Order: sequence, then C-alpha cells, then structure tokens
Amino acid sequence: MSQGFPKSGASWDELKRRMLDMSRHDVDWRGGRAALHVYYAGDDVLAVARDAYAMFMSESALAPAAFPSVAKMERDIAGAALDLLHAPDGAVGYVTSGGTESILLAMKAARDWSRNGRRSDGSPPEVVLPRSAHPAFDKAAQYLGVKPVRVPTAANYRADSVLMASAITENTIMLVASAPALPYGLMDPVADIAHVALEHDVWLHVDACVGGFIAPFAKKLGYSMPLFDFGVHGVRSISADLHKYGYTAKGASVVLYADADFASYQSTEFVDWPKGKYYTPTLAGTRSGGVIAAAWAVLHYLGENGYLALTSRVMRTWRRYVEGIRAIPELYVIGAPDLAIVSFGSNVVDIFAVAQELSQRQWYVSRITEPKGIHQMVNPAHEAIVDEYLDDVTAAIARVRSSAARVDCLEVTTY
Ligand SMILES: *Cc1c(COP(=O)(O)O)cnc(C)c1O
Repeated sequence: MSQGFPKSGASWDELKRRMLDMSRHDVDWRGGRAALHVYYAGDDVLAVARDAYAMFMSESALAPAAFPSVAKMERDIAGAALDLLHAPDGAVGYVTSGGTESILLAMKAARDWSRNGRRSDGSPPEVVLPRSAHPAFDKAAQYLGVKPVRVPTAANYRADSVLMASAITENTIMLVASAPALPYGLMDPVADIAHVALEHDVWLHVDACVGGFIAPFAKKLGYSMPLFDFGVHGVRSISADLHKYGYTAKGASVVLYADADFASYQSTEFVDWPKGKYYTPTLAGTRSGGVIAAAWAVLHYLGENGYLALTSRVMRTWRRYVEGIRAIPELYVIGAPDLAIVSFGSNVVDIFAVAQELSQRQWYVSRITEPKGIHQMVNPAHEAIVDEYLDDVTAAIARVRSSAARVDCLEVTTY
C-alpha cells in the first residue's frame, strides 16, 4: 500500500517503530533462515560497516579533489582486491555498486578495446559465456548492443572450454568464466578457457562475484581450489563482490583489470556542455562515500585473519550441508561443488514440492531449474541451524512422499 507525499513530519521514534513494523515479515537472516542474499558475519562487523557508512555517507566519490579521503579508501580497497587476486604490476581496480555494474563495465571495456581493429561491417560484437553464467551478462549485453552467446555446460555442469572455443567467431570480444557459478557453486576451468582466449586473442572475464573474497581464503585454509584469478595468464578482468563474502554493506563490488590500458576503455568523458570536463570512471555519477567507507572499514577490521576465520566457518558449515544432503537417500548433490554453495535434487520426490514444504517451515528457499533443485548459499549465520535445516528437509521429504505432492508449474525466479 503506497500513500501520497507525507503532509507533516513525524518523530524519528515514531518512524523507527513503523519501519520495524514493516520489517516484521522479512526473512530472519540473522537466524539463518535465508538461503542467500545476506552474508552475516556478526553484529560487530555490522556495527563497523554501519558506523563507517554513517561517517562518510554525505561525501561523494565523484569528487576526489573534494574528498581525498574517499578516493584514498577506494584505492586501498582496489589495491587489497588486486593483491588478493594475484594481479600483476600495472593492474588497476574500481569500486562499483555491485556485481552487475562490475560486469557491465568490464564488458564495455572489452567492447571498446576490441574496436581497435575489428568488425567494420556493423554486426554486433559477441560474448561467449557458459549457460551457468549470471544474467548480469545478458543485461549488460542488452545495454551495450552486444550479442550474448550462451554455450551448454559440460556433463559435470562446469563450463565446457571446447564448446566455448567452437562458439568463437570473428565478432567475439569476450569469453566468460565463473568462479564459481551461482547455480551450482562450481568453479569453471578458468585455465582451459584462458588458453582458448589467448589462442584467439579475446578478452577473458572471470566472474568472481561469489568467489572473489572467499575462494582465496579457502585455498589458504587447504581446500583444493583451481586457479581462477590473475595468476592465470589470459585473464584480463575480474568482478568480485564486496557485498557478498566481503561482508560489507550492500552496494559494493570491485572490477579489476590486469592492465591500466584495458581499464581505460571503461571510463567516459564529456566536455561539450557549459560546465567543462565531466569524467567518471564507473557507471554512476554521484557515488556515496558511505559504501566505500564501509567496505574499507570492514576489510581492515577483519583483515586476512578475520576472513580466514569466517571462511573456515563457512566452509565447515557448507561441508555439513553437503554431507547431510548426501546422507539423505532421496537426494543427490548436483555436481561436485567447490565452495560455499550446494544445490540438490531428487530422482524420487518432486524437489519443488519439498521446497514448498520448507517454505511453510519458515525457510526462505532458493531454487534452480537445470536440473530441478534446491539451492543453498552458505554464510556464517547457517552454522547454528544446519542440523535443524537438514531435519526439516528429511521431514519435508516424508511429508511429500506421503501426500504424493507435486508442484508442476511453479515459475522459478533467481531470487
Ligand atoms: C551476485 C552475482 C552477480 C551480480 O551481482 P549483483 O551484486 O547482484 O549485481 C554476478 N555474478 C555472480 C556469479 C553473482 O553471484
């Protein structure tokens, strides 16, 4: 129910009460009921992000000369991400509003970089991506006049580098690999795809929106993790979300480039109007200093030790999900996930009926469609409730089996 413009002001106490009231039906993410969307590292981390956000929310990253503080924090964040992801000397990075913007900017840079010498006939540039890649690529392609070419994944649900190679045409400007792909938690074979990219001299973007701030720490903890970052020759850009496993305030991601020359194609500049040069490196004009300050503060509050500790909790909890699901005879785990995400299906019961049953037990459930399955993205909040979840899955299956419930035409959304 919306209403008109408020006639008179109200007290903050009154408004706070009304806002809390509005949040009554929101999912209890602190209690681990959300399968995705919130990455809860504890109230101390939230407090740091909130205070830092409040300190700089009026400042703007649009004006580095006015706010050198925000510019310095952005450089620090980019520098930290580049270091974590083994960037070579000369690499650069920017803070963006999220994975979608990071992907859009990388695709723009690839498109405009490749104009140096290709496609004089006006046919659209093409991006070759695995079927499991995030829809943000298709969205970016729509905005940029690029044709997305989705290629089936291999039988193990990972990107198929051979099929991707065969989809390359003279219009191809970019290949995409996910680290990991959101539907399955599977790392694509970045090294194989990089080989293809180098062979054809096309841009390779690695979408590490999920993995960027957790896969490097999982690897340090001894989990086996394929190479996926700038350590792989041929990777030109990477997207990595701070607002996922970076545990910072929403509205923060980084886009990173192996070379400043590649990055130069991301920015825009305009002078032909009455107020002189208008230069912005990213999509937004005004950019809240709050988002950048929160990310800077959380990165420095946690440090490598803090991220290792959180990653250890996520990975151990994730293993409990994987093993718990494998132990339920009616279920199977989809693929052999590498980290943080597990999707599971069933050959015995209608898994969407199980999902519906779980929803009735106050779980916010996430689904996938190929194959039909339930999708769980693990964060530290799940540590305390994984057993309860698995018990409810078992109970839901029993219920579905006894009632032969089926959910036939449920439209599945990514969220
Ligand atoms: C979340 C996600 C994105 C998009 O990021 P937003 O921050 O939602 O814009 C892109 N790729 C992958 C793999 C993701 O998980």
